Amino acid sequence: MSAVRVGVLALQGDVREHLRMLADSGAEPSTVRRADELETVEALVVPGGESTTIDKLSRAFDLREPIRGRIAAGMPVLGTCAGMIMLADRIEGGIAGQQTFGGLDVTVRRNAFGRQVDSFEADLRVEGLDAPMRAAFIRAPWVERYGPDVEVLASVDRGEAGVHPVVVRQGPLLAASFHPEVGRDDRLHRRFVGMCREALR
Ligand code: GLN
Repeated sequence: MSAVRVGVLALQGDVREHLRMLADSGAEPSTVRRADELETVEALVVPGGESTTIDKLSRAFDLREPIRGRIAAGMPVLGTCAGMIMLADRIEGGIAGQQTFGGLDVTVRRNAFGRQVDSFEADLRVEGLDAPMRAAFIRAPWVERYGPDVEVLASVDRGEAGVHPVVVRQGPLLAASFHPEVGRDDRLHRRFVGMCREALR
C-alpha cells in the first residue's frame, strides 16, 4: 500500500516538526501553502502557532474555502494547539472577526490556562495509548463545550477551574491542545496516520 500523502499547512507555526513526525509515522508529508498543493494531499495537519495569524494568512492565500470544502468532503485533519482552534466550530476569547475552518462541533477557549500557567508540561493519559504522553501545553486552548458526536480522548483536571478535554476526535478530525510534534513520542501522529488509512480505504 502506498504511503498516505499528508500535507502540513505551512503558513505559520511549527511545520518542520510535523513533517518529520509524519515521515517517521509512515506517511508521505509535504507542505501546503497554495490551493493546488492542497489538491495533491489526502489529509492535512494544521500546526500550532498563532490561530489569528493562520486565519488571516489562510484567507489571504485563498486557502480557507478550499480547506473548508475538503473538510466537508471528509478529509482527515489533525489540528494541534492553534490547529485545534482552527478546527473548532466556535471560539471563546478570539479576536474580533477571527474565523476558523471549523468541522469539529466544539467550543474552544483560547489561552485557556491563563497567564500564570502560560506553558507547562504534563503526563497525559490518552484513551487508546497504553502509557501516558508527555504533553507540552504552550498558551494552549481547551475544549469548553462539545457536541454529541465528539469523542473525548484526554482531559486535564484544573482543580477548581474544572476538567477540560484536550484531545478530541470527531470522525476523521483529530485535535490536541498540546504539541505532540515536539519531542520523540510519535504515537498521536501514528494514530492519525492510521485514521487516514481507515478513512481513505
Ligand atoms: N494561543 C495560540 C492561539 O490562540 C495557540 C498557541 C499555540 O499554538 N502554541 O492561536
